[in-house]
Amino acid sequence: MDWFRRFMAGRYGVDQLYVALIILSMVFLMLSSITGWPYFSVVALLLFAYAYFRVLSRSIYKRSQENLMFLKLLDPASRWSRQTVRRIKDLKKYKYFRCTGCGRSLRVPRGKGKVRITCPICGTASVKKT
Ligand SMILES: [Zn+2]
Repeated sequence: MDWFRRFMAGRYGVDQLYVALIILSMVFLMLSSITGWPYFSVVALLLFAYAYFRVLSRSIYKRSQENLMFLKLLDPASRWSRQTVRRIKDLKKYKYFRCTGCGRSLRVPRGKGKVRITCPICGTASVKKT
């Protein structure tokens, strides 16, 4: 393992973008075997090559900038999925409403009858049945 550590010294290594590229390349590989379309495996190979080019790259700053950009791009999707998971967990205890003033989503405990909800952001009040 010592040769490997020496080989990897000063190289960028693995990050989130690497994992995403490998998963994507697996997806393309599967698509290629399902559809029999050879171009999918070419795309898979390119993604795989790019992933390893990044791992072995010595331009650590450039690679970490790429990863940062990738994470920024991914942020709305991951926020949406986190929110959705939380809402499903909360389904029995809370009800969600959208504020008529600013469009923010508001969480209210369930089973309290008709309540007046005041948005903490814009102050718009509305009466809703919980
Ligand atoms: Zn509001």
